[in-house]
Parts: sequence; C-alpha cells; structure tokens
Amino acid sequence: MDLLETLQSNFGHAEFRPGQEAVIRSLVEGESALALFPTGAGKSLCYQLPALVRDGTALVISPLIALMKDQVDALRAKGIAAARLDSSLSAAETQQVYADLREGRLKLLYVAPERLSGETFLERLRRVKISLLAIDAAARQINEPRERVVKALTWLEETGAITQKPAGLRHGFRLCGDPVRRDPAAVAARLAELFGRREERDSQRLAQILDFAGQSGCITRRLLAYFGETLDEANCGHCHYCRTGVPSEPVCLPATVVAPFAEAHAVEVRALLSQGNRALSTPRQVTRFLCGLTSPATTRSKLTRRPEFGRFSAVPFRTVLEWVKRQA
Ligand SMILES: [Zn+2]
Repeated sequence: MDLLETLQSNFGHAEFRPGQEAVIRSLVEGESALALFPTGAGKSLCYQLPALVRDGTALVISPLIALMKDQVDALRAKGIAAARLDSSLSAAETQQVYADLREGRLKLLYVAPERLSGETFLERLRRVKISLLAIDAAARQINEPRERVVKALTWLEETGAITQKPAGLRHGFRLCGDPVRRDPAAVAARLAELFGRREERDSQRLAQILDFAGQSGCITRRLLAYFGETLDEANCGHCHYCRTGVPSEPVCLPATVVAPFAEAHAVEVRALLSQGNRALSTPRQVTRFLCGLTSPATTRSKLTRRPEFGRFSAVPFRTVLEWVKRQA
C-alpha cells in the first residue's frame, strides 16, 4: 500500500510529519495504535487517511459543531466524501446524509456525541460497514453556547474518552481582591505553584500512558480495566493480542543524550542568568528556554532567535533543570 501516494494525491502534502506514518500503517492494517502528539502535530490525518484506504465509512465523534464543519469543509474541498450530522442541518440535508450513508458513498461521517444516544441513529449504523471509529476531542475554544460545550465534554468524560482539566492559566486573567492590598509577589508565587503542579500532573499522566502501553494481554480488557470496567468474557477474541498472541512491544522513549553539558555551555547559562532579563531570571525559565519551550515573554523579547534556544531540546527537562540549578 503506497500511503505516501495516497497522502499526496488526496491531501496534497509532500510527506508525512513525524510519527504519522507508523500510526496510519497500523490503522490501515486494522491494528490498534496508541499515539501521543502535541497540539497541531497532525493527529486528524492519522484517522482521515486510513478512512480513505479502508473499506466502509469511518465514524468520527466530534464534540463541537464548528470544528466538525471546519473538518468536513476542508475534506470536501479536497474532493473527499465526508459529511456531518448535527443539529444545524435542515431536514432535507439530514436525509441526504442518511441516503449517502446507506448507499456506502461516505468515507467519513462526523457526528456529535449526543447523536449516539439516539436509537434511530444506532439502528441505521447497524446496517453500515464501519471502517473505523475515531473520537476527535479537540479542546479548542469555539464560539458555541457554553451549555452545549459542557454537555459534549461531560459526555466524553463519562464515556472515558477524555479527562477534563482546567486550562487557561495563561489565557484568562481576572483581577481579584482589594487592589490596594493586592500583593503581586504573592499572586506570582501562587501562579508558579499552580503551574508547577500542572506540569507534575501532566508528566505523571504521560508516565501512566507509557506504562499502560507497555503492558501485555487483551487490549480490550486492558482498556476497559483502565476505565474501571470489566469484560464478561476472559478475552475479547478480536484485538491484536487475542488474534496473534503477540505481546505489546515495550515502549521505547527516544534515546536521550547523556550529560552533553560542556564548560562552554555553563558559561553561556551563567551569562544568561546574569543578564537581568526578566524572561530568563530563574533556573526554570532558563531551562524552558534551553529545552526549546516558548513562553509569551521569551517570544515577545525575541529571545527564541538566540542560538542557545532549544540547544538541549533532546535532553530530559529535569536533567537540564538540575544542571542549570547548579550553575545558578
Ligand atoms: Zn482481546
């Protein structure tokens, strides 16, 4: 299967972005894949391309109408048979989508989560060949009534598809308390503490996922157990493990450079720290900078153009942080 050719002729990209091809290859072959991508790294293509190649219609659950519309419009502009079912369609439009679905003319069908609780819709689905099921839980801010967003997100959380967490530490600010007695240092310390805790939670969650991916046995059973449920049978009988008996491969993190720090780098770091730049005044800020993580302040002061930016992006954050602290 020439996936690159499919990518070029249908999506107009010259090549895959890092990580996409391996995931797509697994899904095309009917296998499962666990992939972690940063925001904006091309997750959607990972189910859109297999949807084109596989027989049948891919069902994509998407919580937000605006997002669904964007995706479907973009796919249609590329000549891909995609449609959406949501409450904004007229009765005639809805009938057309159902007709296309029944005749097997759709490669991708986007639906809002609420749709899955309707018996009629589920009944229609039973007569359709589903090539794959994708849940696109993009947590973007969209101009939708809050109630709808909350309902959709709650549904996804109840089904175990997502874990909700408050975001927007950097996006929304509110002045609170008595302006005269407000202590900027205390507020900053509180924010730094919250940020640190969130960072800790995020890395714990990543570790959990890696641990999960490294376990062996029936994948369905493991997924259900992860969400606190059990399988009635001993094993599902149709996942990759059940069919082949091949255990999951151990998860290998990319190899990291061991202690690449030279005296010249130490001199650089001490120079950065002593420049009195407010965006680089603490070891943590310097570490983020050296690891190639931007912040509004480093971007604003154009620090990201400096040669030291991202110098240690291949080294674990903690390793760099410990080293920077020793230079401070
Ligand atoms: Zn199984």
